Parts: sequence; C-alpha cells; structure tokens
Amino acid sequence: CGYAWLSIASGAFKILQTAHRDISDEIQRIRPREIVVSDKFPVENLDTLNIPINRIESWHYDFSVAKKTLEDHFNVKSLKSFGCEDQHLGISAAGALLRYAQNTQGQKLNHVKNISSESNEDCLQLDHTTRKNLEINETLSGERSPSLLSTIDNCTSHMGSRWLSHAINHPLRNHDAIRSRQDLISWMIEPDNRRRSQSIRDLIRSISDIERISTRVAMGTARPRDLSALRDSIMLLPDLRAALTGCEIELVKQVLSDLNCDPTLSDYLKTAILPEPASIIVDGGVINNGFDEELDKLRELQHNHSAFLLELEEKERERTGISNLKVEFNRVHGFYIEVSKLNTKDIPEDYRRRQTLKNVERYITPELKEFEDKALSAKDRALSREKLLYAQVLEEVNSFHDILKKAAQAIAILDALRSLAELAQRNNYTKPTFTNDLSIHIEKGRHPVVENSLTTFVPNDTALNDKTRMLVVTGPNMGGKSTYMRQNALIVLLAHIGSFVPCESASIGRVDRIFTRIGASDNLSLGQSTFMVEMSETANILHNATEQSLVLMDEVGRGTSTSDGLALATSIARQLIEINKSYCLFATHYFELTELSDHHPSVRNVHVSAIEHDDRIVFLHNVLDGPASQSYGIEVAKLAGLPRRVIEAAKLELQQIWRNNERPNIQQHLFDKSNQEVVDRLKEKISVIEPDQLSPKDALEVIYELKKISTDI
Ligand code: ADP
Ligand code: MG
Repeated sequence: CGYAWLSIASGAFKILQTAHRDISDEIQRIRPREIVVSDKFPVENLDTLNIPINRIESWHYDFSVAKKTLEDHFNVKSLKSFGCEDQHLGISAAGALLRYAQNTQGQKLNHVKNISSESNEDCLQLDHTTRKNLEINETLSGERSPSLLSTIDNCTSHMGSRWLSHAINHPLRNHDAIRSRQDLISWMIEPDNRRRSQSIRDLIRSISDIERISTRVAMGTARPRDLSALRDSIMLLPDLRAALTGCEIELVKQVLSDLNCDPTLSDYLKTAILPEPASIIVDGGVINNGFDEELDKLRELQHNHSAFLLELEEKERERTGISNLKVEFNRVHGFYIEVSKLNTKDIPEDYRRRQTLKNVERYITPELKEFEDKALSAKDRALSREKLLYAQVLEEVNSFHDILKKAAQAIAILDALRSLAELAQRNNYTKPTFTNDLSIHIEKGRHPVVENSLTTFVPNDTALNDKTRMLVVTGPNMGGKSTYMRQNALIVLLAHIGSFVPCESASIGRVDRIFTRIGASDNLSLGQSTFMVEMSETANILHNATEQSLVLMDEVGRGTSTSDGLALATSIARQLIEINKSYCLFATHYFELTELSDHHPSVRNVHVSAIEHDDRIVFLHNVLDGPASQSYGIEVAKLAGLPRRVIEAAKLELQQIWRNNERPNIQQHLFDKSNQEVVDRLKEKISVIEPDQLSPKDALEVIYELKKISTDI
C-alpha cells in the first residue's frame, strides 16, 4: 500500500510504500490532523483513530493524473530528481494529496518545494499499540501529561517541542547519528559550558516561531507582527551562534552554518517594517517611513495639516477682521472655520455653513474643501499603497524561505537537545553506549515517568544477551512487574533519540522494533472483546518480531479461562523463545511458566520481591533472580479491604486446593520419567521395523501395534 503525508506548517512532503496492508501504525507515527483517502479505500480500521477522514473520488489517485499534478507543482519533467519515481503507489497518493491540499488551502503551497521517500528502515519501529501502552505521546486515558513526551519536553520554543515530538516518534537506528546528538548533550552538560547553554535557552526563548512564520509568509497569510517578530528574531541569531563558538561537534558545525542567516534579510525588514507595526494591514501603520517615497508623500499630506491650517487661519482673520476666528479639524466633521455667534454678521460671501453649535457657527470655504478632499483621499491612497507594498515585502521575504527553514530547524535541534541535557542533569541520567551485538544491559534502571511521582523509586537491572533472551517476570500484583517492563522499553527508546537515560549504565545492541502486549487496554467500547484484542496484538508480535526486536508481554492469556490462558501463554512464550528469539520480557501470573527455564537455557526467571510484615504485604519493588515463591493474591485482596471473613475463607480454600491438587506439570509429555517405560517399548518396536520389507498389510498391522502401546500412557 502506498501513502503520502504533507505538513502544511513545515512544507515537508513524504511518500512511503509498505507491504503491510494495515497502515494504522504509520498513521499513529505521523499523527496527522486529517486523513484523505480514496472513496474505494476501506476505512473501517481507520475509524478508531479519531482523526477526521475525507474521502475523495478515486480518479484523483490515478497514477498519470497524480504524476502530472506533482510534476506541474514542482515544475519538473520527471520525478527522477526526487529519487522516488518508481514508487507508483506512493506517487498516486502524493498527487491526490497535493491536489486536495491545493484546493482546500486555496493557496499555491509555494513552500512545498520537494518530495522524498521515507524508509522505515531508518527508524526504530513502534506500532500503534506500543506507542499507546508505553504512554509516549499521551497517557492511557488520553491526557497529554504525564506522558513520556511531556516528561522530557522542557523546550522553550514550539520549534523545539515539535522537533522533540517528531524525534520520539521516529527514533533513529543509525548509531552514528545518535552519537552526534549525544555529543551535543554532553557538551551542554559540561560544567564549563553550563553558562553557554543557559544563554542558548534564554536566546531561544526570545526567538519567535520562525518556521510557522515563514510558512505563513509563503502562503501570504503572514501578519505585520509576524514580520516584526521575524526581524527581531533573526537579529538574535548571531548571538546564538556566538554561544556555540569553539564547539567542535559535527552536528554543531551544521547548526552553525544553518544559523548563518543572510543579514540582508534583517536589514531589509528593518527598513521595510515599522519598529512596532499595527496588528493588521487594513488600517495601515505597518510600512516604515523612508521605505517608499510615494507613501511618505501621502502620509505627509494626511498628517501634516497644521502648517496649512495655521496659514489659512491667519489669512481669514485678516480678511474678515474677526480676531478669534479659528480653522480646525476633527475626525467626525472634517475641516471647518469656526466663528462665534456674535461675529457671524461679518463673514464673507463664500462661507458655507457646515454646523451650528450653541455659541458658534462652523463654515467651510471652497479653498478649505479642496484641501479637505486632498487630505482625505491621501488617506485612502496611502492605505492602498501600503497594502501593495506589504504584498511586495511578503514576496521578498519569501525568497529567503529555505534559509529561514534551515535556521528554524537548527534552533529546534538546539532547543530540543538542550532540553534533553537539562533533563539528564536534573534527573541524573547517564549516556547509553551502543554495540553491534544482540544485547541489552541496563544497570539500576528507572522508569522516567513513574519515578517523578514517587519519593523513592527502586532501580532495577536488566540483562538480555545471546545467552539470555527471555526474562519471565513473576510476583504479586502491584509488585512492579509492568513498571519494570515498561522502564526497559522506555530506556531503549530514549537512547535511540540520542537522549541520556534514567539508569546508572546502559549498553544497547541492535534493536529494530519494540512490541508490547500489555493488559488493561480495553477496546470493548469498539465492539471488540478484550481477549480478541489481546490475541490479535499477540499475533502481530509473533508474525513480525525478529531477534532484534524488544518484546514486552504483560499478563498474556488473562482474557480467557485459566486453562486456556495458561495453555496459550505457554505456547506463545515457546514461540518467542524458539522461533522469534527476540529480546523478551514476559510477565505472567501463571507460576507454571517459571518452569520454562528448565527446558530452555535462554530463559531466566526473575521476580519482584515482597515480604509479609505484621500479617501485611510490603512490596519492595526489587527485581531478583528466580521465580516468585508464593502467590500474594490473598494478601493483596486483604490490603484492598475485602471483608475479613472472605479472606479467612479464601485461605482455607487455598489450602484445600493445594491438598487436592498435585499441580499437573505443564511440561508433561512423552519424555517425562513416568512415561519412560512406554517410550522404551515404542523405541524397541520401531527399531526392528524394516520399512522396505513391509507389505501394506504388515505396515497397517505395525501402526495398530504402535497405537496400542502408546495408549497405555
Ligand atoms: P504489577 O504490574 O506487578 O501489578 P505495577 O508495575 O503496576 O505492578 O506497579 C504497581 C505500583 O507499584 C506502581 O504504580 C508504582 O507506584 C509502584 N512501583 C512499581 N515499581 C516500582 C519501583 N521500582 N519503585 C517504587 N515503586 C514502584
Ligand atoms: Mg501489571
């Protein structure tokens, strides 16, 4: 399937083709405001995403129509130069999308300057469920905070926040690219550079959203104050560069060159726009004096009446002999000559009455009328002149579009990485290292979000490598199993955006995807039963997880009867161990699963510890070696306030069950000791068979015999 996405804000335009038919994961990654699909496309599985969907006629997706739309827009003969000419499905989607955007925005979308193909090979993949379960962009209940993003985002600009949000949804897989981000964070944390990173923060705080403004300029919707803000912001860029001088990091070299904004733009804006322009162009008051001769003249006419009025007053006093005659102007009545009632008998012929007040009469003369017309029309002419000039200014500023976009990107990176540096310092994070093998080692890891809401968070270790591929995590409810599993995934994720991580040390090998199947997410409202959801999520994992995938399985099998659940959990775990061979954390309330390690050397048991104290249970939240020894279910129920009588009864019931039920071994199969005898007999029987010598009738006989021996089990 092929699709494209377009950001009207930034002008970014990407196409992608995947083999997957279900693109809801991709949609979650991109998080669009609006989705456009062909009216032939089945939208059922997009309905759950809560994003408005617009259906357009399928001919828009016709390859040749779409290709032509793109070629016309980019003014090229072929799409070769964008390196995506053979992605036909993607191009169909991109053409349809561009046409849709052109029509709905009513703009030329000049700032959409190129299109490129995105490859999901470059990113650590997270599917929709995983993003949701790990509460990356929002909490499970849909709040913005406390999510992973809200925890790590201390950016002072929207540009930085947007960059960080993109980064956390597109974690990198290229270790060198990750390291260059780490280098800049390290640099900012160094004691010698703290001052500098503080001034970087302060400067960025005073810089406006250059990215958004340049988009508005391109679309012709920028307001006058966008331009003055742009001017003031660009003037701060040299200071921002100065704060980075001497920093030899590769990434910084790029940032510095992107921040090297051409001074002609700020000079131009200084001369073109008033220091503090009006908020909208309609009433004027935007274009600077001295920028345009004609505008200056019109403004002169409009505002400098005083000289003319004084002159006229002098003249009229002389002519009429009325010494207290005044020539004045007000906004409502325009220009007038004012004479007190006592003197009205002395006025000349050409005075026309304009207005009568209690003690005075106001007049107009042909000469004054003519001046009035000129002055008033000057106002209109100045306004339309200003509008014209403003459009020209926008066009001129737009010629710097690419430069501005680069600068905005550089500011965003600085802001976001500085925010991560601040986070690392404040919460005591360390720099993870990357290796090329299949291992994840974390010492004293913490959950980046949960630790903020607790006074003491108990750190825990994790070691997955070629010897240990799966940790089976057991222990009481509320013991910290889910928290432990999630914290490992979040540490791996944070490491891949270049961030430091909440632990004492972390060494991370190759990781291609993170999968989670975590209980408690319930899609019942959408008509799917919890169990169905659980199993379809699990199916997705078993189909797609590789040995480089980090898989979290939390309480799988809970949604059905105990025996079904146990059987499924066991076979799912086996599949992960034997076939997928992923890095796997498997939390379960089925103690039987702790026996997997007896038969699979790559499985290790760990448990979250708890102790009983004064007939109560105390959770220590420590992850220790070995399986949990006891189910604390009844103790937890007691904590939750179940009546004493029920608790006592449950304890008795439990003892009864233990007595009656020598727990059946789930590993019970042909090779158990109890069956040894049968196996020996079967072996003996089989060893004497000579297949080539058997007649069909003999063969049938042998099968009957084998069958008989085996049913003796
Ligand atoms: P489980 O999955 O075993 O039922 P959770 O992971 O949901 O347990 O944890 C239950 C609660 O225990 C959490 O809400 C948190 O308050 C606390 N907790 C979990 N892990 C830790 C830890 N390492 N240190 C301190 N408190 C923890
Ligand atoms: Mg749990």
